[in-house]
Amino acid sequence: MSTAPATRLEVPGGAGDDVPGPAPRSAGGLDAHRDLPRVQQPAWPDAGALESAVAELSALPPLVFAGEVDRLRGRLAEAAQGRAFLLQGGDCAETFADATADAIRRRVKTVLQMAVVLTYGASLPVVKMGRMAGQFAKPRSSDSETRDGVTLPAYRGDAVNGFAFTEEARTPDPQRLVKAYHTAASTLNLIRAFTSGGFADLRQVHEWNRGFVGNSATSAYADLAGEIDRAMAFMAACGADFDALRSTEMFSSHEALLLDYERALTRIDSRTQLPYDVSAHFLWIGERTRQVDGAHVDLLSRVRNPVGVKLGPTTTPEDALALADKLDPDHEPGRLTFVTRMGAGRIREALPPLLRAVADAGRTPLWICDPMHGNTFTTASGVKTRRFDEVVDEVRGFFEAHREAGTVPGGLHIELTGDDVTEVLGGVEDIDDAALATRYETLCDPRLNHQQSLELAFLAADMLRGR
Ligand code: PEP
Ligand code: MN
Repeated sequence: MSTAPATRLEVPGGAGDDVPGPAPRSAGGLDAHRDLPRVQQPAWPDAGALESAVAELSALPPLVFAGEVDRLRGRLAEAAQGRAFLLQGGDCAETFADATADAIRRRVKTVLQMAVVLTYGASLPVVKMGRMAGQFAKPRSSDSETRDGVTLPAYRGDAVNGFAFTEEARTPDPQRLVKAYHTAASTLNLIRAFTSGGFADLRQVHEWNRGFVGNSATSAYADLAGEIDRAMAFMAACGADFDALRSTEMFSSHEALLLDYERALTRIDSRTQLPYDVSAHFLWIGERTRQVDGAHVDLLSRVRNPVGVKLGPTTTPEDALALADKLDPDHEPGRLTFVTRMGAGRIREALPPLLRAVADAGRTPLWICDPMHGNTFTTASGVKTRRFDEVVDEVRGFFEAHREAGTVPGGLHIELTGDDVTEVLGGVEDIDDAALATRYETLCDPRLNHQQSLELAFLAADMLRGR
């Protein structure tokens, strides 16, 4: 196994709003994960090639700054207390080919449009975060894929190998890690430009939303849109015109799956002398890699970033508490997010015991709902999809469970795209089995399309009003 060069590249400390908290457990043990079980790692065929890719990554500049990461931790602490709401959304798997200006713009636009509706519904600031600018690696249930008698390595995301079913494409290539970094950099650059350069102006985003409710299929949402309209008109009549109307903040996040990549981008901040994973503002650990004694949990336990963990329906209260103890030993506000993904049919039984146990332990992590990954199934014709109604029902169950437990439903984690794809069944366009074939583009999990995303935002806004 290769060892990353001892990187001490300094990260410029930005002006964080909050004072850095306690040092993570043994900040010096950033390589301890190398001796622990490392599941879901690619079988790189050439150790030397991996080592040079890692050396190259280790010398590249940070994608995010420590001060921004600290500021996000503060925002998430607010969401955990019910004083803000998190919207995290983007592709299941970003691809290099789709990192175009138009596709990124449409995704950002969709998240911004959803955020306006949720802001109104919650009467709270919405923290916007993309599953973007780094979501290039996927865990897989099988290491290989067989088609017509030919077996090749499974596609693990553009950061590892190609999707085409050829031996050449499917062989893991560590230079793809470097390409993932550069693609993340250009994506993040565009996101920063969009959110600060006028594109995100609240008045414009609201105009787009008026477009969404302007036809008969979406008329059910016209009342809420009308209320937002009046609020906007009231602000305009008062002459309100302030910076927060013109620009916004958007943070980046991805699943911290590829340990060599995340380790190469973990740097010591020059201001605090503490380690930050500068590949994104927020990193999460997936359902398949959250073993409490495993490599992923160990590495993320040592960085200052706010971290998330996916919790599926088999999670026990003991599992959740052990993860909290390891990842957030100091009960630091905003440090830990639990992303529950139970399935619509399970959430009302599976979530309450976790909420109770975690609250009884005196912990207040940020709880957010991923209504996607517990609701995936394959149709009779072999297409991997989800039902929009089940996605909505899981969100509803999430709010119900929190209301009963007296805990805070703090956000949503959504797989979406800004395009008019047909990957999820239902929604206002009522996509059916036959329609799935018309524009099914995802290389991994089915995403809500632009309309379905907005519809979900309107429905969740109503739930938020009653929370
Ligand atoms: C994902 O978020 O794309 C994913 C694989 O989720 P999970 O780890 O919850 O299965
Ligand atoms: Mn997915």
